[in-house]
Amino acid sequence: MELKIGWLYPTLMSTYGDRGNVICIQRRAQWRGITVEIVSLDQQSSAINFRHVDIVAGGGAQDRQQEIVMRDLQGEKAVALKAQLEAGTPGVFTCGSPQLLGHYYEPAFGQRIDGLGLLDLVSKHPGPDAKRCIGNVVFEITAEPLASDLKKILGEPPIVIGFENHGGRTYLDSVSPLGKVQKGYGNNGEDGYEGAFYRNAIATYSHGPLLPKNPFLADWLIKTALERKYQTEVNLTPLDDTLAKQARASMLKRLE
Ligand code: GLN
Repeated sequence: MELKIGWLYPTLMSTYGDRGNVICIQRRAQWRGITVEIVSLDQQSSAINFRHVDIVAGGGAQDRQQEIVMRDLQGEKAVALKAQLEAGTPGVFTCGSPQLLGHYYEPAFGQRIDGLGLLDLVSKHPGPDAKRCIGNVVFEITAEPLASDLKKILGEPPIVIGFENHGGRTYLDSVSPLGKVQKGYGNNGEDGYEGAFYRNAIATYSHGPLLPKNPFLADWLIKTALERKYQTEVNLTPLDDTLAKQARASMLKRLE
């Protein structure tokens, strides 16, 4: 089996180690004998590249880099990426990436920038003097059917551990939140929601990077991508996640 990962603007959007998400998907697939190809989706790519990927990954960026990306991700590229995600291609989008998948982002300085409008949400930076939302974050995934799928695999509620660092605040409209915050700020520090979930796209403020800290999410992305591509049920061989489990237990204890 083969998987092609489309990585959004790797040089502009990989803050706080988000490239670790791509490496995590790659390794966990390869350890199961799956061939992985990683393609950059960026200024040099043509729109057609955005159409032929099995998983999409997008990381965080500072406002300046995010603006450059949002100006490039227009027209044919925007149409192609939106069509892929609407059709159910699984994706993982962190911090700056969900902001650009929403209707718009208002940066700390300058004008509102239009997003793709795939996720029914908006993001606003309250200004350079506002406190940033920084720290470890813990949340329970509540979005369906993802939460039920994960509960079946884990045998317990899916708890995500991450690290957030954002000035922008995100407000959801009709899109489902990804989860409910237990520790930290989440989307805006007000309504208790974290991230968003739409079709098979996971959007979150959690860096960490997210997937090595929460390997069950990487496996869900791989399984979902393979089942869509090959139209057959896929049961991934379990991997030894002892170290990740120990790291999670220790972080949860620290945050008690
Ligand atoms: N520029 C965005 C903000 O500050 C995203 C930051 C990030 O991706 N970590 O809200």
